[in-house]
Amino acid sequence: MSVTGLDTARAFLIDLDGVLHRGKERLPGAVEFIDALNATSTPFLVMTNNATSTPDQVAARLNGMGVAVDRGQIYSSALATVGWLRQHYPAGSRALFVGELGLRTALEEGGFELVDRHSDAEVVVAALDRSVTYARLAEAALAINAGCRFVATNPDRTIPTERGIEPGAGAIQAFLETSTRVAPVVIGKPQTAFFELAMERLGCPPEQTVMVGDRYDTDILGGARAGIHTMAVLTGISTAEELAAADPAPTWVFADLVELLAAWTDARS
Ligand SMILES: [Mg+2]
Repeated sequence: MSVTGLDTARAFLIDLDGVLHRGKERLPGAVEFIDALNATSTPFLVMTNNATSTPDQVAARLNGMGVAVDRGQIYSSALATVGWLRQHYPAGSRALFVGELGLRTALEEGGFELVDRHSDAEVVVAALDRSVTYARLAEAALAINAGCRFVATNPDRTIPTERGIEPGAGAIQAFLETSTRVAPVVIGKPQTAFFELAMERLGCPPEQTVMVGDRYDTDILGGARAGIHTMAVLTGISTAEELAAADPAPTWVFADLVELLAAWTDARS
């Protein structure tokens, strides 16, 4: 199969859920695609809006499915948020966060001092926290009301779980936004900042970078807005019909990573 222009792809940003795996199930071609990228020394990042897990945890889950990525190849919205924060705040700045281990670790490793009291905070960072308390949210709201900048890792309103559709990071942000009337600065997909930070980390320009994703309104739209080519795969959220009607359209659409890898391999030969 010959696909026009595919040989321009020199670096990949790869969504996680619906692309490499779905729940606990590895998706077809995931192992082979990552192996091919590693074998050709093609730079890539697994780019996920999930801010609850650390890169070590995400890499361990993928390794457990046979997908050969290491922690340095995982780029979460928590890491990108800290990357953005470090452009605006010096090391040692005091952050009050609502979130889980992924965000906590990213903030600590990014040089932030974590505080629990609103009066100590210089910035508030919110992500999904599945054991959040009213007391914690109230502390965050008080800090925002006192003038702290309000930054959010990712806008996902919901997360799919085995039980169904549960509230996501966006619901936590909505709580704070409703109670403070302050809208957060949001970093995760589809925001351009996440893509720019990822490309900076890869050291690859937009015209040679491709976003691979399953969801139109985050992966594909976000990639297009960031000026990069996009590959949609049909193993997750968006359907072929939805993608065919979308504007801007994805640059390429593939049934799955098996088809994508075959086309990319063909284009490079
Ligand atoms: Mg996805």
